[in-house]
Amino acid sequence: MAMEKTLILIKPDGMARKLTGIVIDRLDNAGFEMVGAKVVAVSEELARKHYEALKNQPFFENLIKYIRGEFHGIKNHKIIAFVYKGENAVEGVRKVVGATNPEQAACGTIRGSFGRITTKGQFENVVHASGAGPEAEKEIELWFKPEELVE
Ligand code: UDP
Ligand code: MG
Repeated sequence: MAMEKTLILIKPDGMARKLTGIVIDRLDNAGFEMVGAKVVAVSEELARKHYEALKNQPFFENLIKYIRGEFHGIKNHKIIAFVYKGENAVEGVRKVVGATNPEQAACGTIRGSFGRITTKGQFENVVHASGAGPEAEKEIELWFKPEELVE
């Protein structure tokens, strides 16, 4: 067991559908501690940096549009970014969040409860959570200044 931090984003569909409170509640109940939070208008540059590892995927351009709120209103739509801390937080938060594909996400996970695939095939899976390996540290550094974390 290791004390870890991980990045969570309430994606534009989660914002539009007013799911922020529920996400916070589920992470609270799972025992994770919020150590950072802010509202962010996602620039093109930030979106592309955040999803850099997926730039060769066929869904990449739609993913950039999605995370910038272009499917849910204006460009630079606001999202909320959180850092959560806890024992094995990266894997633990991913469990609470559920699988990437909302159709495959287990019932009771955030994505299993609230995610959907649109008729155009876009995954709307409510939240982002850092994956295993160096991802969490890199993402926290991209989205937060060290002094914005309260530990
Ligand atoms: N995504 C998609 N179609 C796919 C795979 C991923 O639209 O076939 C989107 C989806 O919004 C996902 C994001 O790309 O959350 C990042 O993909 P990743 O494989 O990192 O999934 P995650 O870590 O979010 O579970
Ligand atoms: Mg990922």
